Amino acid sequence: MIDSEFAFELRVCQWAERAWPSEGDRRRPLVIARQLGVKRRRWDTIVVECNPEGLRQRASFGRERLDGDLLHVVRHAPGEWTYYRDALPEPGYSWRYVREAIHTAADRGILDSRKRGNRIEIRQRYAYPEWVERIVAIENKPDLDASAARTLAAQIERDVAMGLADEVWVATERTDDRVEPILLEDLPTAAGVLTVDPTTSEGDVAWYPQALAVDAPGTRILDRPDDDLSAARFEYVDATWKADKRRQIAERAYERGWRAYVETMRPDCRHFELRATDGDVVPYCAAKDRVPTPALCRHACGEFEPEPPVWRTRGWPIDGGPGAGIKRLLARQRRRKRPGLDE
Ligand code: SF4
Repeated sequence: MIDSEFAFELRVCQWAERAWPSEGDRRRPLVIARQLGVKRRRWDTIVVECNPEGLRQRASFGRERLDGDLLHVVRHAPGEWTYYRDALPEPGYSWRYVREAIHTAADRGILDSRKRGNRIEIRQRYAYPEWVERIVAIENKPDLDASAARTLAAQIERDVAMGLADEVWVATERTDDRVEPILLEDLPTAAGVLTVDPTTSEGDVAWYPQALAVDAPGTRILDRPDDDLSAARFEYVDATWKADKRRQIAERAYERGWRAYVETMRPDCRHFELRATDGDVVPYCAAKDRVPTPALCRHACGEFEPEPPVWRTRGWPIDGGPGAGIKRLLARQRRRKRPGLDE
């Protein structure tokens, strides 16, 4: 049995990084992240399939994400110096935010800007590439029983109706039993079902998903009585909104990657370890004898003990002690998946 949904989530991320796509050879580089989405919806695991050249070009914009305002500026910046209001499309919000985004982009070195009299002019420094080919959303439910499947079904129906991800999957823990047909009946047929072995991080497909229409307008289900879809309230979301959100999700995935969990944990605790599994590492708490979750591994943890100062000074081969070394190791592993980044 797996310790927690968090531990399972890390296994699914590892599996995806190693073995995605579930069928056929890998043709595209991947960026894997966890706990990302739009305001009302977070997916547990995100697989971004990337255009190889686009991913490399994306590195020119640095490790940090570009939010919606920055994307608006860098995607439309012209090749020659131009007054910003002539160069950029109507933003749909105050131009004041556009000016702030121009200053931020210039400070980050990803846009040229200059003042001519009272006018701010801008010029493209790098062309922003369309680096995202497909986005796959995975919902992790290690203990998927009939009741969990029914609860999940409403959420998955919303994902399918919106069509923000190209595919939606449910990942569950592999057991000796096959996936019960009743579970498949309870889940929308458009969603794929994947079983993952938490000890080896191997995965099998129990059901293939349908490709969703990401380029078409989507439907947001606002309110849905449990047993009557016809009485649900809907609103439409246009394809441009979806394309913008997909770019923003991919940008957040690029910045964070799935190893960002360490930023909300206590690697500076003497009990915090990284244990190797299948060529990767997962966090481990020697005091609790389990994979710690961010909810357990924090300041309030009763068993927290700081690294002894001697670990940080004499005899420890990693600068700053094991805690700092762990963060650097995970950052290095993340960077390896972002070709072209030099920091
Ligand atoms: S003892 Fe607490 S703070 Fe230390 S590694 Fe374990 S869970 Fe984290």
